[in-house]
Amino acid sequence: MTEITGKTQLLGIIGHPVEHSLSPVMQNAAIASLEVDAIYVPFPVNPQQLKDAIAGFEAIGVLGFNATIPHKQAIIEFLSDIDPAAAAIGAVNTVLRIPSGWYGTNTDVMGFIAPLRKLQRDWSQIVPVVLGNGGAARAVVAGCVQLGCPQIAIVGRNENKLTQFKQSWQNTPFAEAINLHSWDKLPALLPTTQLLVNTTPIGMSPHDTATPVESTLLATLPDDAIAYDLIYTPRPTQFLHLAQQQGKTIIDGTEMLVQQGAAALQLWLQQPVPDKIMRQALLNAL
Ligand code: NAP
Repeated sequence: MTEITGKTQLLGIIGHPVEHSLSPVMQNAAIASLEVDAIYVPFPVNPQQLKDAIAGFEAIGVLGFNATIPHKQAIIEFLSDIDPAAAAIGAVNTVLRIPSGWYGTNTDVMGFIAPLRKLQRDWSQIVPVVLGNGGAARAVVAGCVQLGCPQIAIVGRNENKLTQFKQSWQNTPFAEAINLHSWDKLPALLPTTQLLVNTTPIGMSPHDTATPVESTLLATLPDDAIAYDLIYTPRPTQFLHLAQQQGKTIIDGTEMLVQQGAAALQLWLQQPVPDKIMRQALLNAL
């Protein structure tokens, strides 16, 4: 670790709780390898003290920070500028100090699409099927639209929440792309999609044997389909294990985690960052 002096730039993550966050390990590994004079610190911030924490950050000249649960939505009112996609998503995970105050963006979107961009696909012909309609699904929707997908099938278990999900995108460029489906529509949806994304926690450790889609149904995906699970523990999840057995291309949640962090660090430092080192630090920590 670089020596901390009066000139060391402060970065960090706010959350409640924040102890479990893997971002400090990943970000400090990258900072050390770049030999920049900065440090990334986890800050436990109670929701009632968010305003005070932001004022404190301003007072001590924090360069930028990540926001995790439960601050991703609440932080928005303290920003002086926001990326349009983050505004449409309604969640910010990365904040940068700017002359007028704070600028917020959502690097989960970049994180989600980074491993997909490496695959040669004609996204304008692909209608992704997204399982779940929670917070992570929102970054996935924005990511799929940025890739060029014309429509996105959102699969949810609760009709009211599904309807609210669609309504929440009203007056944004993403609204037209969203189609809602219940889980019993999967047999009709899967044979026609090249991208199936799990944004539910089904299969997350310690429920390692659970899968959102059973093997026989998964087998109805086209041979060249991609199965993408946002979960990063276990690696692979049962969902990805089954998909891999069937010869599908699989992507797990680690790359999204690495790339959202790399995009944040790049924004703060305004220079290329070593995602390879971040990936290795994350894998060591996992
Ligand atoms: P969330 O806001 O709680 O949303 C979870 C969604 O899954 C909700 O739509 C929920 O449905 C649905 N769901 C939960 N259990 C279900 C079940 N048994 N059957 C059907 N649907 C179910 O959570 P989130 O923040 O979006 O996170 C979701 C997952 O993504 C987590 O595993 C998280 O670790 C992962 N994630 C990964 C990254 C990454 O960087 N790799 C980033 C963000 C999130 P209801 O709305 O009906 O309850």
